Amino acid sequence: MQNKNTGENKNNKNKNYILWYAITAFILIYIFSTTKNFITTQEISYSAFIEMIKTNQVERVVISSSEIDIIPKENSERNNGKLLYTGNVGDDNLVELLIENDIEFTAKTVQNNFMTEFILTWVVAPVICFFLLRFFFSKMGGRMGGSSMMKFGKSNAKVYREKDIKITFDDVAGQDEAKESLKEIIDYLNHSEKYVEIGAKLPKGALLVGPPGTGKTLLAKAVAGEANVPFLSISGSNFVEMFAGMGAAKVRDLFQEAEKNAPCIIFIDEIDSIGKSRDSQLQTNDEREQTLNQLLTQMDGFDSTKAIVILGATNRPEILDKALLRPGRFDRRIIVDRPDLKGRIDILKVHAKDVKLGEDVNLEEIAKSTPGAVGADLANMVNEAALRAVKQGRNVVMQEDLREAVEVIIAGKEKKDRILSPKEKRIVAFHEVGHALVAALLERADPVHKITIVPRTMGALGYTMQLPEEEKYLVSKEELINQIMVMLGGRSAEEVVFNVITTGASNDIERATKTARSIVTLYGMTEKFDMMALESVQNRYLDGRAVRECSEQTSTMIDEEVLKIIKTCHENTKKLLEENRDLLDKIAEYLLEKETIFGDEFMDFVCEKYPELRNKKSKENKEEKQELVEE
Ligand code: ADP
Ligand code: MG
Ligand code: ZN
Repeated sequence: MQNKNTGENKNNKNKNYILWYAITAFILIYIFSTTKNFITTQEISYSAFIEMIKTNQVERVVISSSEIDIIPKENSERNNGKLLYTGNVGDDNLVELLIENDIEFTAKTVQNNFMTEFILTWVVAPVICFFLLRFFFSKMGGRMGGSSMMKFGKSNAKVYREKDIKITFDDVAGQDEAKESLKEIIDYLNHSEKYVEIGAKLPKGALLVGPPGTGKTLLAKAVAGEANVPFLSISGSNFVEMFAGMGAAKVRDLFQEAEKNAPCIIFIDEIDSIGKSRDSQLQTNDEREQTLNQLLTQMDGFDSTKAIVILGATNRPEILDKALLRPGRFDRRIIVDRPDLKGRIDILKVHAKDVKLGEDVNLEEIAKSTPGAVGADLANMVNEAALRAVKQGRNVVMQEDLREAVEVIIAGKEKKDRILSPKEKRIVAFHEVGHALVAALLERADPVHKITIVPRTMGALGYTMQLPEEEKYLVSKEELINQIMVMLGGRSAEEVVFNVITTGASNDIERATKTARSIVTLYGMTEKFDMMALESVQNRYLDGRAVRECSEQTSTMIDEEVLKIIKTCHENTKKLLEENRDLLDKIAEYLLEKETIFGDEFMDFVCEKYPELRNKKSKENKEEKQELVEE
């Protein structure tokens, strides 16, 4: 959809270019023709002309009503290669004189140039002037914040309209709650009279809220497809234009178009770009405010018996203007959140439909290994896998393609040509086994799925992949602490084995610190601060950045508290690894030899020493659960 819009934008730009080309060409031709005149012709006085006739220097004469063109003889002293001309003074004796001197003469009957000249001066030039002025003013208007005087004509609202949308709810996997809420809207679009009859106020707008790539745009289209009504869509950023007042005009046009097409859906994507709260800005933006006001008025104003539903999509609902969210406008909020395990399986199935799958493909496994991935990621993974299959010369996608695609998206492509020195390789191996071993030995850490020391393009020299056995929505403090210990396991192993520390742990450290900070500031899990909120999360659906909500002094104490957690975890991790040094060595040597080992092989080593761990994190256990999911 976005593509189409930009396409139209381009079209419009092209039009502008054509205009500019025309103007430049015109000016060039004009300059050229005048200078050419100037170079090739020369004016002389009438008396000089008479003199020339009398001294027999004239070859030929062309008489027009205003001008006489003189072609001098070759030997004439006035012959300098130029055409001579003089004004026609209406001399009655001229003809006689010409006949007397035997000079050929003609009269110009039709003014060849008359029509073109007329058109140029009275049509083309004014049109060009008009465009120039218009361009100039609208630029000024934009800069001055614009009054309505600066508006010209109709807006070129680029409404992207689609009549028969083929997308239905079947194409949107998961998101069952969102679909449920949208079903009502579909019913309303199809049977609006039912609602009018009973006197129910019809829903006007709904806001689709969620992280990027979860299928908001897709859902909006699917609503149109299910209801089988036209879909008018525009992106919020399209409203905010260089020309002041254009945004508002676009909103007007959009609603006019909608009334013509009712029942229909208006979809405003990325609505936050116009719907930003008006009071939160340091700088006011007249254009956006005008546009927003227009939108608010239109939403109140349009004929509410006409079945028009406005859907908006955003990933920053918290910055929207309150006026936009009040009842009667976007009063419904439909959360389109990251898919859970089942949702991910369904999304993979939807996208795998168009791809030839090999027999060994197990989409559940892939879904399990991608917690946190959104629909767009999963669609991308399936495609990556298909690309890889082609590259490998196969005509079906195998499980290994999918696995690799997941890793490519998580960690970047394998970079086999990066050569690590044997010593570095050893360090990396021990580092990764450190992570894995801590994960295996701790009660509440996710089981290890894969350990590899094959470098990846995104910078990782190796990595350990853990897979949660089940999706967790609540995480206990103990689990968080265990997570931190696993993250610190890499560096701790380096310390225990080599007694050196390297730069390889920077990402681990960053993540561990973030988790520790959340324990203190967000989850109220420390004794010191009890249940006090010290930070608040902004942009929940984007980066989830936390903003400090406390004084400087408290902030210092927070840092101390975070440090305490990290230090304790580090100590404990080191102790744990020291106690299991034998395992660490054994597995690291094996990893150095194999480069990549999977969870089962790894657990075989661990269970030799701790047989009781077998049941807790065993493969059979996992398979049982997988079957449950399949049902
Ligand atoms: P958003 O608007 O929320 O940022 P989109 O609707 O543009 O995300 O989704 C981008 C792409 O990701 C879609 O075109 C689709 O291929 C895929 N996708 C996202 N969510 C889903 C889903 N729930 N089911 C199927 N495909 C999905
Ligand atoms: Mg979108
Ligand atoms: Zn690490």
